[in-house]
Amino acid sequence: MRDFVGTCQVLNLMNEISLKRTLSKINLGGLRYFDSIGSTNDNALAWAAEGARDLSIVIADEQTQGRGRLNRKWFTPKGSGLAFSLILRSSALSPHLSRIVGVAALSITESFSGLGLDPRIKWPNDILLNDKKTAGILVETVWSGDDIDSLVIGMGINVYKASVPPAELIQFPATSIEDVLEKKPPSREKILLNVLNAFVYWRERIGTDELINAWERILAFRGEQVQVHTAGEIPITGELLGLESDGSLRLSDVHDKSVIIRFGDVSLRPTA
Ligand code: ADP
Repeated sequence: MRDFVGTCQVLNLMNEISLKRTLSKINLGGLRYFDSIGSTNDNALAWAAEGARDLSIVIADEQTQGRGRLNRKWFTPKGSGLAFSLILRSSALSPHLSRIVGVAALSITESFSGLGLDPRIKWPNDILLNDKKTAGILVETVWSGDDIDSLVIGMGINVYKASVPPAELIQFPATSIEDVLEKKPPSREKILLNVLNAFVYWRERIGTDELINAWERILAFRGEQVQVHTAGEIPITGELLGLESDGSLRLSDVHDKSVIIRFGDVSLRPTA
């Protein structure tokens, strides 16, 4: 067994035994690992509907049908990145649901900062390094009638260079931790451990000003002109000011009027 795990580490492969060992100090509800899967979020949604415990996790080395918002594709080629989905099942989260994407985003940015990198959050759900997309978050909900049964938080992180999709497949420039660090990054397991530790920290503080302040401080394009595209509506241009207490985005438009952008299918771009 030791040989198998050791070989996996040398070859930088992921395996369930080693993942479980690395993550043993995190109070996970359960762990499922797949060498290859369609989408970790799809598996987690099904597992949640079957009653998965709080803080269960689905991890895959490769996603063949990884999803972004509105069924846009998220690419996770084999051996190149981190793709995982967390199942959350706590009534304490209910009053703060709109802040959960901030908890996830801060977990990723803190793991990046720990590597000496300088990440920014492209509101609402992307993490940038050098203004290029390096990670994405997809929050989905499992309903039970009119009530929320559980949440699934999918995260995709580009760790090695091979995780970066070809330019023709993406709308926004992309990069990886390895590209920006210019040296071999720590193992994907170690990065995952750091993300999960930060996730546990921020989830406990989901209702606090500390969360909103930390989230706001690390927003990309703060104080700059941006354009926000919302499905079917005229794009809004304005200066990115910060966040409302529910995590909505606050801009100042061309007439100096404050505009609040709520979550939904919005995408944000710098205007320059
Ligand atoms: P948006 O860019 O509008 O925030 P999503 O958050 O839904 O979109 O993410 C999906 C988009 O991300 C895809 O349409 C594609 O352009 C891009 N993408 C897919 N895989 C990756 C990846 N591994 N790294 C960076 N960008 C990616």
